[in-house]
Amino acid sequence: MAETADIHDILLRYWGFSAFRPLQEEIIRSILEGRDTLALLPTGGGKSVCFQVPGMVLPGTTLVISPLIALMKDQVANLVRKGIRAAAVYSGMDRREIDVTLDNCLFGGIKFLYVSPERLQTERFIEVLKQMKISLLAVDEAHCISQWGYDFRPPYLEIEAIREFIPGIPVLALTATATPEVVTDIQEKLGFRQTNVFQKSFERKNLTYLVFKEEDKLGRLLRIVRNVKGTGIVYVRNRKKTKEIASFLINNGIRAGHYHAGLDAITRETRQDEWMGGKTQVIVATNAFGMGIDKPDVRYVVHMDLTDSMEAYFQEAGRAGRDEKRSYAVLLYEQSDIAQVRTNFQSSFPERDTIKAVYNSLGNYCGVPEGSGEDQRFDFELSAFCRQYKMAQLVAFNALRILEREGYILLNEAVRSPSKIHITADKEALYHFQVTQPLAGSFIKTLLRSYSGLFSDFTRIDEAVIATRTGQTRENTVRMLQHLQEHDILTYLPASDKPQLTFSRPRINGAYLDLSESRYNQLKAMAKRRLEAVLSYIAETDRCRSQQLLAYFGETDAPPCGGCDICQMQKKASHSETARKQIVAVIQESLSRESMTVAELINKAGQMDEDRIVEVIRWLMDQGNITMDTMQKLRWNKHRT
Ligand code: ADP
Repeated sequence: MAETADIHDILLRYWGFSAFRPLQEEIIRSILEGRDTLALLPTGGGKSVCFQVPGMVLPGTTLVISPLIALMKDQVANLVRKGIRAAAVYSGMDRREIDVTLDNCLFGGIKFLYVSPERLQTERFIEVLKQMKISLLAVDEAHCISQWGYDFRPPYLEIEAIREFIPGIPVLALTATATPEVVTDIQEKLGFRQTNVFQKSFERKNLTYLVFKEEDKLGRLLRIVRNVKGTGIVYVRNRKKTKEIASFLINNGIRAGHYHAGLDAITRETRQDEWMGGKTQVIVATNAFGMGIDKPDVRYVVHMDLTDSMEAYFQEAGRAGRDEKRSYAVLLYEQSDIAQVRTNFQSSFPERDTIKAVYNSLGNYCGVPEGSGEDQRFDFELSAFCRQYKMAQLVAFNALRILEREGYILLNEAVRSPSKIHITADKEALYHFQVTQPLAGSFIKTLLRSYSGLFSDFTRIDEAVIATRTGQTRENTVRMLQHLQEHDILTYLPASDKPQLTFSRPRINGAYLDLSESRYNQLKAMAKRRLEAVLSYIAETDRCRSQQLLAYFGETDAPPCGGCDICQMQKKASHSETARKQIVAVIQESLSRESMTVAELINKAGQMDEDRIVEVIRWLMDQGNITMDTMQKLRWNKHRT
């Protein structure tokens, strides 16, 4: 088939891969045949290739919807590096930057446009969408469309509506975690014309799942880190613990680092690089760590706390052993953890009135009047906000998370965004300005000589470099850029590395927030169900861990793994049963011939474990199979055999 040759060529030419991974080719073919397709591939299974390769075959633009801004940025950067035109539009961006990006989409030539879901409803986006030639709609993290899923995001529900503007265009939905009911729901909510699912088994043969109830979790962790050579990730629930546990490991001679979303962007980048490059052996992190990290040789992932769902556990644990070599996913818990997750659960669903109050305070805190604020960004420190409004941080945090899911706001952790400029004045105006303001004029010339593309898009700049080239201080350079902005010559977006909050929609009166009681209650009930699934996973004593996990995701015919704590226990139990039977046989055989003392019997049994023999003798006496006479000799009671 000519098409097959094409897609192999493209895979090799742009990605440098000579073969597809399992199911990639089938999924791509299905899309190229114009069929709506749901692809369920585990993390690391290579989902992006599934829409990027057909995107290169098809003539127009592929529209990619994704809620994960950092991943979206990474993918755009990777495509651009391959010489493929790609752009992203998301709510954390400056409004002017969004406008320029969308304008550029209209001129054509963009192969991939990434959009975060809350942008879909905006008038501007729909206007642009109608004029673009879209050939494929890819929906990443497609489980976000389902309220049965563990990460339901209401703005995803808008996707079906935008399909009306691109009729006849196939949709490719991708996810790494979906229970059977979510699989059905995704297809319904996206308006699939026919059901069509490609699912790779979630079985991870090289990954051994272990669950231990352990009162000394730190001691156990240390033993794991010392015994299992290689790189590991340790997950904990709170930021403070990341540091404490990393210090504990360091004090025990282990190269460890810690990571959470509260660290500044540079520190996070450094910690991640040190771990990726093997400078640190273990990273102790909150769940902020790991998304988009593609390190193949992670030998173990240890959870020191319980997760909220099996989906989250499976995702995080699954970061071990991408290279297919033997690896371990260990979950350590103690009795009190169970009460703790139940308490956390309660606080993660603040009352609806509380959420409304947090939303109102937020508007006041940022100084946004009702009816405005759309797309405005603010530096936002949760602790300062809570201090001002006398709120408990956990409650405020959870209320913000719900507001974010509902698409009202967007919280960005501190991402480092570099300074950018875009020249908005036309050549004529620029000349005029250069003539009337010679100093500014030569400054502009330096800008134009140093950077290309300034007229068409926002371009990264470095104030320090410009300062050197213009022979000014950095301060004066910044002042000059601001001056040029005031005179409508350019738009200047200074660098930021603070956590940010964006109003995705104009502020409304909190009383009108759309948080329907029934939906809220349903979400809470679903979350409870997911938590209970985690609790029954750890409480289980009979069923192989891998089988349990797979059954949760709808695979009920998987074999026992043979290596998890439960399989091991069962093996041990069956070994000890065989050993017991052997001992009984030896004892019976010996005592049927003559009576013996315990010592003589042990002697007779040769290599067998002494303690076990004594144990079995005691048991046989209890059963009445053996009696001891006054000379302390043991005798086999024939009638009892
Ligand atoms: P996912 O989104 O499913 O987690 P990615 O799309 O990020 O996975 O891909 C995971 C890794 O696998 C990436 O490093 C990617 O380059 C690599 N990869 C994807 N497809 C192939 C392939 N056919 N051959 C080799 N490597 C691949």
